[in-house]
Amino acid sequence: MTSGSGASAMTDTENWDRIREKLRAEYGEATFNSWLKNIELDKIDGDTVSLTLPTRFLRDWVLNNYANRLRQLWCAADGAIKSVNLRVKPLDRKNGVAQKTSIGLAEATEPFTDKAPGAFEAASPDPSLMAPLDPRFTFDNFVVGKSNELAHAAARRVAEAKDSVPFNPLYLYGGVGLGKTHLMHAIGHAIAANSPKKKVLYLSAEKFMYRFIRALRYKDTMNFKEQFRSVDVLMIDDVQFIAGKDSTQEEFFHTFNALVDQNHQIIISGDRSPTDLEGMEERMRSRLGWGLVADIHPTDYELRLGILQSKVEQGKIEIDPRILEFLAHRITSNVRELEGALNRVLAYSDLVGRAVTLESTQEVLRDLLRANDRRITIEEIQKKVAEHFNIRMSDMHSARRARAVARPRQVAMYLAKQLTSRSLPEIGRKFGGRDHTTVMHALRKIDELRQQDIALSEDIELLRRMLE
Ligand code: ADP
Ligand code: MG
Repeated sequence: MTSGSGASAMTDTENWDRIREKLRAEYGEATFNSWLKNIELDKIDGDTVSLTLPTRFLRDWVLNNYANRLRQLWCAADGAIKSVNLRVKPLDRKNGVAQKTSIGLAEATEPFTDKAPGAFEAASPDPSLMAPLDPRFTFDNFVVGKSNELAHAAARRVAEAKDSVPFNPLYLYGGVGLGKTHLMHAIGHAIAANSPKKKVLYLSAEKFMYRFIRALRYKDTMNFKEQFRSVDVLMIDDVQFIAGKDSTQEEFFHTFNALVDQNHQIIISGDRSPTDLEGMEERMRSRLGWGLVADIHPTDYELRLGILQSKVEQGKIEIDPRILEFLAHRITSNVRELEGALNRVLAYSDLVGRAVTLESTQEVLRDLLRANDRRITIEEIQKKVAEHFNIRMSDMHSARRARAVARPRQVAMYLAKQLTSRSLPEIGRKFGGRDHTTVMHALRKIDELRQQDIALSEDIELLRRMLE
């Protein structure tokens, strides 16, 4: 096979071999093996190189993440090349015509989701069991704080265990966007790097179900069972999905037991603890709690700031640190939203060609900030303040005017105004039906006291941090 240019002394195959070596060196062994190894040179037609991949999922992933680099390398190797096509290699007749996508034009990159298109339709009779792992979700990119240190340490332990199984299963749980999937992918990357011979299978519980249903439909359950039981490490993400799906649960239960019997590592994530998984059979719930159950708590301010800092460092982004502090203070829901907020702010500044300011940040994120505000309730504020000053919750509503209770009550009103979007009359109502002028008076009083009384000012700062 030679290219149409005729100018190149190198054959196309030689060019391709060199490009592959460059890719391997640039992206590292683990990434190369996960994503790039299976790209094959199909043909060169005029100024277009055709490459094939075994599945649509891989094709889409490579297209979104490595297409530009592939094209650059080809253009550099052979001046006659202008574009690169990535196609799915036709595997069997059922699959029909290979899907063709040109990468001659810049493609929008899509964020990774484990619902990537075609991840399931890969019509290979022997669907690759190798995990599709997001290359960004590594241990290196995971910022550890109080809220996730147990889960992180457990994940590391499992990832670094060469021939032993430290806990089986490892069950990670926590709210949405707190890093469960990230940790599982990180385990996958680490095992691929440390023990490349180990077969690791990562998939969502949802996909497990689809695979199972497919196997039933094609009367292929033997093969299904065999495939799942032959892996060294099985990771099932978002297990709550199969709650209430009885036959899938049944199959999963057997798979689970078979792997545990062989002493193969299982890692599971869920949005709640095993005991709280409604719609899950009792025997399954109890099995899930056999190993180590590690929960990931909501983030605190320091962790959020750390995550933002690590993101801007990685991306070599110049940004006023006060913006990061502002975001860490105000976007408290979860890490996914926090990252999304930063990206939005950066994209906006890029578009309008101006540096990010506090004002533009507030403007761009108005909806998000409001949604996050609503999360702190007046009751929570009252509770924290009462605890802090060692008074009863009922004193927040009572008519007692002794300074020892009146002052904390005023502090709570002050924080309610700062941290929620409630109006003065609404706040008054929550404090035993007080008038809005009473609230206004409280706000003024606290503002005034904060100027003189450093201890009070620090108390308020501390409370605010805890609440946020
Ligand atoms: P979950 O699976 O718990 O819903 P993900 O693992 O998908 O959450 O995390 C959501 C996003 O937040 C991802 O982009 C992930 O990289 C990021 N993220 C979560 N926790 C951390 C952390 N501790 N350090 C860095 N990034 C994090
Ligand atoms: Mg997840």
